[in-house]
Amino acid sequence: MSARLVLLGPPGAGKGTQAVRLAERFGVPAISTGDIFRANIKGGTELGKLAQSYTDKGELVPDSVTNDMVRDRLGQEDVADGFLLDGYPRNVAQVAELKVILEELGVELDGAVEITADAEAVVARLLKRAEIEGRVDDNEDVIRHRLEVYAEQTAPVSAEYEADGALVRVDGLGDIDEVTARLVEAIESILA
Ligand code: AMP
Repeated sequence: MSARLVLLGPPGAGKGTQAVRLAERFGVPAISTGDIFRANIKGGTELGKLAQSYTDKGELVPDSVTNDMVRDRLGQEDVADGFLLDGYPRNVAQVAELKVILEELGVELDGAVEITADAEAVVARLLKRAEIEGRVDDNEDVIRHRLEVYAEQTAPVSAEYEADGALVRVDGLGDIDEVTARLVEAIESILA
C-alpha cells in the first residue's frame, strides 16, 4: 500500500514523535525538513551554515533552499511507494511547490493530517524539550517567535488543504499512544 501524506501542526504538538511512529506503521519514510537542516548544521555543510542563520532565530529557511532540498529527497528511491512529510510545506508557496514536485514525479498526495494543540500547551512542551534535548531554538523567545511564524505562515497551509477537502484534524492532547491511535484512524480514513 502506498501512502503520501503531510503531517501538520504547531511546533511542540508532537509531530516529530508521531511522524516516526506513523512512518513505521504505514511502512513509509518520515521526512522531517527540520531534521535534515539539523543534520546539515551538525555536519557543517554549506546548506547547514545557511540554514542555521534562520533556524537559530526561529525564522523559515528561504523557500528556494528548502524546496530544492525536498525535491531532491522526494526523488530518492526509498520514497517511491510513499512518504510522510513532517514540517513541510510550511507556507502557501511551499504547498504550490510540493504540488509541482509531485506532478513531476507523477504521483499524488493522499492527504494532510493536522495535529491540533493549544498555544500554552505547546510552549510548556517545548520548554520541557529544551531541557531534555538542548535544541538552541527551544528557548522561550525563539519559541514564541516560532509560534508567531506558525500562525502567520503555516496556519494558512491547513486552510489550503482543507479547502481542497484533503485535511483531517486530530486532537494532539493526551497520552502519546492515544494520539497515535487517533492519527492511525485518521490516516486509514484518508487512504480508504
Ligand atoms: P522543526 O524541527 O520542524 O521545528 O524545524 C526547525 C526549524 O527548521 C524551523 O524553525 C525552520 O527554521 C526550519 N525549517 C524546517 N522546515 C522548514 C520549512 N519547510 N521551510 C522553512 N524552514 C523550515
